[in-house]
Amino acid sequence: MVERLGEPIFEELAIIGVGLIGSSIARAARRRHAARRIILADHSVGVLERAKALSLGDLVTDDLARAASNADCVILCVPVGANEAIARTIAPALKPGAIVSDVGSVKGAVVAALKPALPAHTRLVPAHPVAGTEYSGPDAGFATLFINRWCILTPPEGTDEAAVNKVRAFWQALGSHVEIMNVAHHDLVLAITSHVPHLIAYNLVGAAADLEEVTQSEVIKFSAGGFRDATRIAASDPTMWRDVFLHNKDAVLEMLGRFNEELTALQRMIRRGDGDGLFRLFTRTRAIRLGIVAEGQDTAAPDFGRHATETDEPAP
Ligand code: NAP
Repeated sequence: MVERLGEPIFEELAIIGVGLIGSSIARAARRRHAARRIILADHSVGVLERAKALSLGDLVTDDLARAASNADCVILCVPVGANEAIARTIAPALKPGAIVSDVGSVKGAVVAALKPALPAHTRLVPAHPVAGTEYSGPDAGFATLFINRWCILTPPEGTDEAAVNKVRAFWQALGSHVEIMNVAHHDLVLAITSHVPHLIAYNLVGAAADLEEVTQSEVIKFSAGGFRDATRIAASDPTMWRDVFLHNKDAVLEMLGRFNEELTALQRMIRRGDGDGLFRLFTRTRAIRLGIVAEGQDTAAPDFGRHATETDEPAP
């Protein structure tokens, strides 16, 4: 999978926002030769210094318009709420025919914000790589992040097909499977598979932290697998996730409504001692987990392989 492409997909790729996702794209694109030149831009001096030290791009700058000015493709890799202002900043500099894409975890609000902000002579192909970790920043990125992960493209109706095909080829070159969806469907699917689970993790960990009968040190000391997994998710970047919930409000509220109904049904089963009902549900949910593992989207190792590494690795 890591052979270099004979011909790059883009002559010049600009990445704005050099955090986990932006720096991973830069690393993967460089490794695969998916772009001949990679230009990196960010508003944070510290991030730019790290990007230079890590040699992530051919040019590293805090001038977003300059970064975008010669690019065939500009990918915005910033928190969802920052996209519109950046699009307005780079709009006058964009070349005719330039592709503008993003990686936002929410698509409806992003497309609504980006489309009017970009010149008509550019082509908007929004993308969402369904890949990530709970870490942020340029040091957290890695070139293999997108391998065997899905990347969802949500081109607005009437988008130039050649532009969609280029973005598709780019993500495939980075190792992803690509699917096309409309924005509303994307936001609904991701609300239940990603956004609501994050909200539940934030809520669970927050509730444990607020318990008066149990001390914080007990929560940490006796954290069982389920709680520890929730703390990993609840450690995700506060800015990014604040923006996700502010910009995917309707779909998240819709899915939370359904979640609350299911929770009420579960409460009733427990209150009534309905063991058969609980067993039936847990059997159905186990099948979903097995499906995720069978699709290669997660490891089947017990406890995600954590025990194996802890016990198998001799102490240094
Ligand atoms: P990140 O590691 O925090 O990186 C974002 C970078 O953008 C930071 O360097 C940030 O600088 C910079 N930035 C913020 N506002 C900016 C602005 N106005 N102008 C220029 N640079 C700006 O975040 P990330 O995890 O890569 O997430 C980026 C996007 O990817 C988000 O839209 C998110 O929804 C999406 N996404 C994330 C994941 C994931 O698992 N993390 C997965 C899929 C998609 P400062 O930190 O100094 O503000």
